[in-house]
Amino acid sequence: MRKRILLISLLVTIAAILIYSLVSTQLYYNIAIEEKRAALETYAAMFVPGGYTPDDGGAESFSADLGGARVTIMDGEGMVVGESEADAIEPDHSDREEVLQAMESGEGYAVRPSDTLARDMMYFCLRVEEGGNTYYVRVAEYLVSSWTMYARLLPSLAVYFIIDILGCLVFTYIATYFMLSPVEKLARDAAGGGTVTTGYSELSTIADVLNERNRNIEWRMREIEEEKKLVERAQNSKDEFIANITHEMNTPLTSIKGYAELLSSGMLSGEMADTAYKTILAQSERLTNLIACIINYNEIDSDDLPSYDVDLSKLAREMISVVRPEAEKRRVTIIEKIDDNVIVQSRHERMTQLLGNLIRNAIRYNKEGGTVTVELNYKKLAVSDTGVGIAPENMDKVFSRFFTVDKSHSGKNGGFGLGLAVCRKICRRAGWRISVQSELGKGSCFTVDFGLR
Ligand code: ADP
Repeated sequence: MRKRILLISLLVTIAAILIYSLVSTQLYYNIAIEEKRAALETYAAMFVPGGYTPDDGGAESFSADLGGARVTIMDGEGMVVGESEADAIEPDHSDREEVLQAMESGEGYAVRPSDTLARDMMYFCLRVEEGGNTYYVRVAEYLVSSWTMYARLLPSLAVYFIIDILGCLVFTYIATYFMLSPVEKLARDAAGGGTVTTGYSELSTIADVLNERNRNIEWRMREIEEEKKLVERAQNSKDEFIANITHEMNTPLTSIKGYAELLSSGMLSGEMADTAYKTILAQSERLTNLIACIINYNEIDSDDLPSYDVDLSKLAREMISVVRPEAEKRRVTIIEKIDDNVIVQSRHERMTQLLGNLIRNAIRYNKEGGTVTVELNYKKLAVSDTGVGIAPENMDKVFSRFFTVDKSHSGKNGGFGLGLAVCRKICRRAGWRISVQSELGKGSCFTVDFGLR
């Protein structure tokens, strides 16, 4: 940028110097012509009729009196009768511009380039009457041509050019320093991030653009950071999921393998062999169950089937009648506080899972002779029990995958710690909030808030 400014200012000032010198030389030349003409006029007027003879001798002596100016004397017809310079000249001068003017008005004036290009010649011609005869006296002197004048100026111009270049260098340096330093500062500040400000109104647009760009970069960086975190989290969650599945599968597989080995070695017979077969069968069922649970858990995310109106009141009553035998077996009473016609936007199978998981848990983690209350209205579904309750430190964890309070109990009743995780997923999809309130030893209450007021 500095180079360009230097070049432009150099070109501009050089052009200015050239034009100025040309114009001023021309003006000076014009003044010189005016002065020369006035001088020639005075010279010609000094020709005293009768003082000089109208021949070469007269012309020479008049020329000598004038200090060497060329003098030509012509008769009334423009024919040369006397010439101060020895060179032979054309005898008929009646066609010369200055002579023609003098014939017409008494005096004439002309400037013509001389035989050499370097010099012009100025002529002044005056009509003189003498003894009834008419003569024309022409006085001429050399003039320096405007080009010669200009050529003489060139050395001094060269000095000005050098001064100009130096001046431009200094000017460019100072000007660009003042012009560029705020811009450079702005760029430096912007490179450091954050918001930049400037006191120069001309730079405020650039500052705005830089700020906007910085904001976009920051925003994008934050997005990338968040995406990275999400990917990391997803990876961790996947690793954890696989570790949990492996762990859950390991126990039944070890048991199946152990019993199968014993049976194949022929070491078991009779009742023991029967137990072995039953254990293998039960553990295989448990594995099948686990796989079904995992598939079901994963399907909730991938299923994009549409929602529709589900009569939750009807579904809750049906579910209670299904689980009642199980409850009776554990001597648990189910209390229904179900409003009619509670319609929600979801799918039948999802609601069956939600109700089944909550009510079964309430029965499963209950005490003998306890109660389970299922409350349903248009605002919420609440399943409360008078069972073992949940310790405060586990309250947040119960909705996590594979979380079971009592690990020894895990898997015994199909409990892999996926039931509440499934409930949470279903509620999230529907935009509902699921929460738990519990007191250890006294009971728990799981509430699904439909978000309606
Ligand atoms: P599980 O298949 O083990 O029941 P869930 O996800 O349904 O898995 O429940 C996770 C854990 O939360 C259970 O192992 C249990 O410890 C606890 N839990 C769930 N419901 C209740 C309840 N009504 N009362 C006490 N504890 C419960």
